[in-house]
Amino acid sequence: MIPPGKTIGMLGGGQLGRMFAFDAKRMGYRVITLDKTPHSPMGQVCDEQITGDLDDQDALLELGEKSDVITYEFEHIDVSCVETLEEKGKIVRPSGNVLKITQHRLFEKEFIVHAGIHVAPYEKVETITEFDAAIAKIGFPAIIKTVHGGYDGKGQSVVKDRAQALKVFNSMKGRILVWEKKVPFLKELSVMCVRDLDGNVASYPVSENIHVDNILDTTIVPARISKKCEKEAKKIAETIAIHLDIVGVFCVEMFLLDKDVILVNEIAPRPHNSGHYTMDACAISQFEQQLRAICGLPIGSTQLFSPVVMVNLLGNGKGNRLAGIDKILADPRIHFHLYGKTEAAAKRKMGHITAVAKTVDEALDAAVAARKKLKWIE
Ligand code: AMP
Repeated sequence: MIPPGKTIGMLGGGQLGRMFAFDAKRMGYRVITLDKTPHSPMGQVCDEQITGDLDDQDALLELGEKSDVITYEFEHIDVSCVETLEEKGKIVRPSGNVLKITQHRLFEKEFIVHAGIHVAPYEKVETITEFDAAIAKIGFPAIIKTVHGGYDGKGQSVVKDRAQALKVFNSMKGRILVWEKKVPFLKELSVMCVRDLDGNVASYPVSENIHVDNILDTTIVPARISKKCEKEAKKIAETIAIHLDIVGVFCVEMFLLDKDVILVNEIAPRPHNSGHYTMDACAISQFEQQLRAICGLPIGSTQLFSPVVMVNLLGNGKGNRLAGIDKILADPRIHFHLYGKTEAAAKRKMGHITAVAKTVDEALDAAVAARKKLKWIE
């Protein structure tokens, strides 16, 4: 057990690390981050920031020296960095092995299928022969994704015919790609799940997610799905927890198709944007669960107290100050979160709003209405 007073090191200092730090500080831990941006969102609120790249060996070793346990808020980091820390006897949770699987789309899909769970039909594409084989086996419409570095729709293109696909293939020469069937989903879902050192697993209620331009826009909880789907989605997440042998919090993103069929899209081995609602509507937040799990403490209740809707606040490149907060906070259903980023570039996640209400419809109306009252100004 790693008790309060000990130091938790975080690889990455963005908003997930910042919200983790709030809970870790509340519970008496020291927290340090490694991030390349001075005064990062997490660096602003934790005990110390080491400023450096996540693959800077010296910075990494310094984080390792200063920490009793290390975790990460971003999975697209060099696995060898985590392995370096593990080889030096440092505790990294979730482990480098979890990172290795979840940051590589092909390894991840193979792992999911091996666990007996369905994914969208896919093929590996590296050569022109594999490219034509993928067209023959899966066809169009398809999504071509890079195996590494993809999140928020980055590194992926929807293709409708061979000419279009060839252009994408040629522009990505030399990279390993995944050719995935574009599935006609009814809804996108996700489940936040936590597994502790003793192997206990708990999952939160299912999130219903709406993406705009491949970036999460709205999360509705509980998801407006059948009881059977709710049960099945949670079972999928809990099965993945066991097979991954993960210690920590993770998110499973899924597609709900016709006839209650659920496919897994991807796994994020950390707290997730679609789990932010847990801070304002659940007994214990996803961040406190992450802290508990990586410190070897018992995991807490995942009980949802109220229907809730979260909407993201993205920058639009038209100013860095947010006006209208006074107008939205007059509504007692609204909770407001801002991440301390100085530049509100277009599509950058700057904060979020949650609305808790008696029904999801009421929460959705309240969250959307509140967001409309906010405006980025110079
Ligand atoms: P990803 O980067 O894999 O999380 O994908 C980002 C978004 O692209 C997802 O949330 C979906 O909205 C969409 N998407 C990804 N893969 C598929 C697929 N196989 N079929 C349909 N939509 C997809």
